[in-house]
Amino acid sequence: MGHGKTYLISVVLPTPAHSHLPQILSYRHSESLIKGALVRAPLGKRELLGMVWACEPAIGDTLDDAIKPITWVLPLPVLAQPWCDLVEFTAKYYQRTLGEIAMTALPPQLRELDALQMTRKLTKFAKKLKTQDAVGDDSIRVALSSEQQLAFNQLSDGDVRPALLFGATGSGKTEVYLCRLEAILKADAQAQVLVMVPEINLTPQLESRFKARIEARFGLDSVVLMHSGLTPAQRVQSWLAAHMGQARVVLGTRLAVLASMPRLRLIVVDEEHDPSYKSQDGARYSARDLAVYRGNRESVQVILGSATPSIETWHNAQSNDGKLARYRRIDMPSRIDSTAMPEVRLIDLRVHKKKSLFGECLVPEIVDAIQARAARGEQSLLFLNRRGYAPVLTCSSCDWKSACPNCSAYQVFHKQERRLRCHHCALVTPVPRACPECGDVDIGMQGRGTEQLEEVLAGQLGKHLRVLRLDADSTKLKGSLEAQMALVHSGEVDVLVGTQMVTKGHDFRRISLVVAVNPDSALYAADFRAPERLFSLLMQAAGRAGRDVAVSVQAQVWLQTAHPEHALYQALKKHDYPAFANQQLTERTAANMPPTSYQALLRAEAKTQELAQAFLEQAALCMENAALTHGITLYPAVPMPMQRIAKVERAQMLVESPSRAALQQFLAAWQPYLRELKMGGVLRWALDVDPLTI
Ligand code: ADP
Ligand code: ZN
Ligand code: ZN
Repeated sequence: MGHGKTYLISVVLPTPAHSHLPQILSYRHSESLIKGALVRAPLGKRELLGMVWACEPAIGDTLDDAIKPITWVLPLPVLAQPWCDLVEFTAKYYQRTLGEIAMTALPPQLRELDALQMTRKLTKFAKKLKTQDAVGDDSIRVALSSEQQLAFNQLSDGDVRPALLFGATGSGKTEVYLCRLEAILKADAQAQVLVMVPEINLTPQLESRFKARIEARFGLDSVVLMHSGLTPAQRVQSWLAAHMGQARVVLGTRLAVLASMPRLRLIVVDEEHDPSYKSQDGARYSARDLAVYRGNRESVQVILGSATPSIETWHNAQSNDGKLARYRRIDMPSRIDSTAMPEVRLIDLRVHKKKSLFGECLVPEIVDAIQARAARGEQSLLFLNRRGYAPVLTCSSCDWKSACPNCSAYQVFHKQERRLRCHHCALVTPVPRACPECGDVDIGMQGRGTEQLEEVLAGQLGKHLRVLRLDADSTKLKGSLEAQMALVHSGEVDVLVGTQMVTKGHDFRRISLVVAVNPDSALYAADFRAPERLFSLLMQAAGRAGRDVAVSVQAQVWLQTAHPEHALYQALKKHDYPAFANQQLTERTAANMPPTSYQALLRAEAKTQELAQAFLEQAALCMENAALTHGITLYPAVPMPMQRIAKVERAQMLVESPSRAALQQFLAAWQPYLRELKMGGVLRWALDVDPLTI
């Protein structure tokens, strides 16, 4: 080959797990490149973004002519070694390829910009850097409560373990995060902090609170956002700011855990129990768990905050046999302003069955209670986790139900738009005038959704009170969520009706009554994590109540239930999360379930359930012996809880082990077999490590 020196470069490219291409491909280049450099390289007819993984000088003329040259090297600082390690760990742990994880972490625009566009972008970026400056110190700051101060002191005492900040709703956890991160940013002029929240779109308040505080002290643009709602251009801006060290704070959702932050010094995971930290497609990683890995790898403090920690985290924060717990626990049991926690009342639906229920939604007392609050200028929040008017339409003469033809689910009746909608495949059809099976015109409804609740309330109270509904339907238009929130905050709304969207994080000031209209439906679900989710949801919902001393009476939370004696409700009544969590932990330990065992799911989708299950059984067959030697339990293939979506049948197989390492080894050994398996009509398969729903 030609003149001068040539280097053999190993490049990580986004080759999918199902393909037979290796994860790392070889290229040539005229200069030496460092691990973590971003490059463009040809693959087939395409040119892909890749990351340099290794580089060595080619000796003599040994380089094969088939090895193609790298197209160009992006003019950016290289990704640091700890970041490469994070990507490698994520890929290994969640059984994906390096390239898939690396490309999930990088902003999509990096794949598209050409050399000229890239240079322009960077010039623009550098100019902006020069113009920004600190706006001065000390905006309005509050004095920490004694509990907050204690928590802050503990967080500053040098203990390197992840800290579980176990603080009641309204105990002022956010203020503690802010103080801790300000101390870190102040001590080191280049330090960076990562703050993760579950769903940023739902909490515009939090964003403005962070920006106001941090930008006042550390300069405009010192906070950047990272979430899936950003435009590609915004995303690349945020990423560059974090990667180049300009952004001091990255505030984002789960994908932010993979942000390149070369001077990372603190990671905060707010509401660490929230299921949205686990991604449900693609690389199914848990951002909370990766945060803990990352903190450990980079010797960076990790704070996990929650009023209802996940059972896994709770478990990690317990010391066993006198051994130091893996996480340390810092408690903040009291609310700021020492407002009392709301009183929880259980309304026994069995007693009320014979009395009138408004549209079968509400016991009459609730309507009275709402009116009493409104008369005092207070607000009520009603929470029902079902949108639409009625979840099912039924025929009174035959067996017909509004089943979705594509899914194992019902089409939901949406009254205002006079349509049936499937919430899984989005199929929309007109409402039939008569039963499609027998022609009877007497079509009835089963169950109730938020739309119906709104109608019932408006009918009862509408003349005097303002009712607002907040759910995925009412907030479809861009900006409508913010507009509706503003109405609530300004006091234009007396009664707020909504799905779980209303329970998360909002700092509503004047709500003194929270009603869970139908919480029972989650009580006896098959999923062993359902109680945990229900408890945290109700606790969050209750946390919306009585956050203001201006509200004269103690706030109340009413639960309409047919099972008031249930242990979960009894613990909730006492606001006793530890009692609930310990009981869950005992049950799960006795049944060898997580967190005392480790799980993965192999899932398959096919045209028929038989094909999907046959694939899984085949996959199990080639590992029968390995399972025995590794101490792995392979369960039979079964239909997924949502068996059919959009005409595709879904099946799953549970894999379980008392040892995380053994499970990891087993899964890694399984991969090559899975890739070789005949698909036999299977459309897709995927491994889900540490699945949240089973
Ligand atoms: P959490 O995240 O624990 O639910 P927040 O941090 O949102 O609680 O605090 C609840 C409310 O109390 C917020 O409105 C916040 O501004 C206020 N707050 C927090 N700490 C203090 C304090 N030390 N003094 C006065 N108000 C505070
Ligand atoms: Zn019929
Ligand atoms: Zn459907």
